[in-house]
Amino acid sequence: MSSKVGFVGLGIMGKGMIKNLVTKLPAVDTFVVWNRSPDASEEIKAQFPGKIEVATTAAEVVQSCPITYSMLSTIAASEAVFDKEGDGLIAGVSEGKIIVDCATLSPERMLKIRSDVCAKGGKFLEAPVSGSKVPAETGTLIFLCGGDEEVYKAAVPAFKAMGKANFLFGEVGSGSKMKLVVNMIMGTMLTAFSEGMALCEASDLPQEKLLEVLDLGAMANPMFKMKGPNMINANYGAHFPLKHAQKDMKLALDLAAQNGLNLPTTDAANDQFKSLLDSCGDEDFCAVHKADKKKA
Ligand code: NAP
Repeated sequence: MSSKVGFVGLGIMGKGMIKNLVTKLPAVDTFVVWNRSPDASEEIKAQFPGKIEVATTAAEVVQSCPITYSMLSTIAASEAVFDKEGDGLIAGVSEGKIIVDCATLSPERMLKIRSDVCAKGGKFLEAPVSGSKVPAETGTLIFLCGGDEEVYKAAVPAFKAMGKANFLFGEVGSGSKMKLVVNMIMGTMLTAFSEGMALCEASDLPQEKLLEVLDLGAMANPMFKMKGPNMINANYGAHFPLKHAQKDMKLALDLAAQNGLNLPTTDAANDQFKSLLDSCGDEDFCAVHKADKKKA
């Protein structure tokens, strides 16, 4: 019997993830993919001749595969693809089908997907990821999951192909909460770092030296190392689009409010990202540095 795995959503992250699945899961005969813009599917098909089948709808992916992974951008995108009547992803679910959603969404949205999938006899796991475009390409993502252990175990071989670590935190919702905590720390760190870079420049100090100093001490981290030179060179090509960083800051603030927590630093960072949504929402989130440039 031929084995098939489905993948829906071939954006910045999905493109890298499917490549790792294809190359590291040789026992799978065919990967069935669907993306709103068909070019992305055709691009993957051309890269792996004989291994990729392009479906015409998200429902068709689920109908033809026992397990389907999804990687869509926002709650609106998730609703557009999952909830579409007739040929949406949920429409394709039947008894025993497994859906694993890897996007960063709200815990409430993940619970709604679980309920819709289970209502049709399917099984659902949330598996948002820590890591960006490069870890998606190199298969070094970190999966932060919520759901039943049995479903989690079914997805572990794929997590190992796409990532370097995977965690199960509890029920659906717990993985998304952990992901929001991680991204809220990342977003506040990046805005503080950007302000430091701006103050360094405004004080006529070399920013390259600041990077060197930070890298030698307790604040050393891969994000400063990667984003620092990009800020200096105004290289804002999107690895993690600023609009998605702001989405996650807002979702983290919603989670904080539900828990009666006040997060003033996160609030301020969210405002900074929000102020740039119209002008550079599609650029990398390190474009937040534009807001910190010295006023003329
Ligand atoms: P992306 O490139 O902006 O988009 C992902 C996918 O969403 C694309 O396939 C896109 O289709 C689809 N999409 C968007 N709106 C849609 C709609 N209305 N209907 C149907 N499809 C729609 O996002 P990404 O950077 O890959 O991120 C995917 C998820 O992972 C997000 O939740 C993000 O927050 C999270 N994440 C991202 C990173 C990162 O560094 N990029 C890291 C960790 C987690 P088209 O190709 O047709 O536009």
